[in-house]
Amino acid sequence: FWDYLTKKLKSSLTPVSYTTWVESAHPLYISGNDLHISVPSNLHKDYWERHYTEDIAIYSFELNGIELNPIIETAEDQAKKEEPATPKNNVEKTTTTGHVFHNSHLNPKYTFDSFITGSGNQMAHAAALAVAEDPGTIYNPLFIYGGVGLGKTHLMQAIGHQMIKLEPAANVKYVTSETFANDFINSIQTRTQEEFRQEYRNVDLLLIDDIQFFGEKEGTQEEFFHTFNELYANSKQIVMTSDRLPNEIPKLQDRLVSRFKWGLPVDITAPDLETRIAILRNKAEAENLEIPNDTLSYIAEQVDTNVRELEGALLRVQAYSTMNKEDITKSIAADALKSLKLNKEQNGLTVGKIQSRVAKYYRVSVNDLKGKKRVKTIVVPRQIAMYLARELTDKSLPQIGMEFGGKDHTTVMHSCDKISELVIKNDEIKRAVNELKDELRN
Ligand code: ADP
Ligand code: MG
Repeated sequence: FWDYLTKKLKSSLTPVSYTTWVESAHPLYISGNDLHISVPSNLHKDYWERHYTEDIAIYSFELNGIELNPIIETAEDQAKKEEPATPKNNVEKTTTTGHVFHNSHLNPKYTFDSFITGSGNQMAHAAALAVAEDPGTIYNPLFIYGGVGLGKTHLMQAIGHQMIKLEPAANVKYVTSETFANDFINSIQTRTQEEFRQEYRNVDLLLIDDIQFFGEKEGTQEEFFHTFNELYANSKQIVMTSDRLPNEIPKLQDRLVSRFKWGLPVDITAPDLETRIAILRNKAEAENLEIPNDTLSYIAEQVDTNVRELEGALLRVQAYSTMNKEDITKSIAADALKSLKLNKEQNGLTVGKIQSRVAKYYRVSVNDLKGKKRVKTIVVPRQIAMYLARELTDKSLPQIGMEFGGKDHTTVMHSCDKISELVIKNDEIKRAVNELKDELRN
């Protein structure tokens, strides 16, 4: 982990800072979740405590899934600790950084601050924030559903962070449905069911991620049913995520399905172009990367499936530019993402296919879409088809214009803007666009 940490810190520091602060420090040992680090002076100690406490938690979580809590020690501190007269515990207390890490298994990066909102996640975000501020009252349970990599886990953990921030004594527990199932099975094997129940029922906020994996596991569902009832009866907040709605989860017991519907189900859908750009910009800033705007837009245009892949693309571009010792530019990004782009071309989605699918959906003809009629029943489908062509293919605005009976690229641009706007304001259009997108992608 030390190598990993120093590498990460190196990339964000000037050589001078790196040598001064990082190279002069070295790891001593780990006890529990505490990582003891030795530094040359109190000045260094202060610096490490102020700057790297969070980084260490973040990076250790990234690497091993546990948050390490740094204990920074000078030679003097270490000497004191070895003095037999002082009970060890006391010394440890005085040398801790004062930071409290809740044992709630939250990823420190997944906060509301770092969550970018857009048309695809606005509702879910608002509901999550409301729940964090007013747990156990309005939306209980909160059920967040949507495809992979769209930010469900992030948003769910943001609720946990926010609640702890507002109410530091709050007892927050985050687990995946698999961990819940494993804990339960272990508790039977080791006859510690009482402890298991204590652990899961004495919480103020229970976050259960990817609940779709409960299907099949009868005993676990039974236990969760009781956990749920107990928490609910005590007005404790429950938040769940899943890749689909409760009634679409195979083998989920009806009584759970019906309870999950008591609260609010909110969906997250794929981010639109603007949101993708905003996410990239935010990420680039967090990583101290300098990337021109046109390059950010370019990357965002290339990856429209989910946020995880978007982040992957950014990493790829970053790695590519480091390797080639060049600044990140559009052409560097294009080279780095070449193989991704091939995938997109190979998926065989053409503007023609998009047109015929949209035409069928709206019961108009493809010729109408390509034509010039200005009636609303045709204009909206035409604009949607252009928007989808822009989102789902590599075609440029003029190329898309050509495929719509030789329209100007500004017409295409206007249509795309219009629909981007409408998917936020108009539920019917939002539903149509999402449905069409899903179908066309498969
Ligand atoms: P899911 O649980 O839906 O599969 P995650 O919550 O794991 O998705 O998100 C995948 C990655 O994308 C994470 O690194 C997360 O921080 C990031 N991410 C997703 N949505 C957003 C967003 N709206 N703003 C910033 N980062 C996001
Ligand atoms: Mg997840």
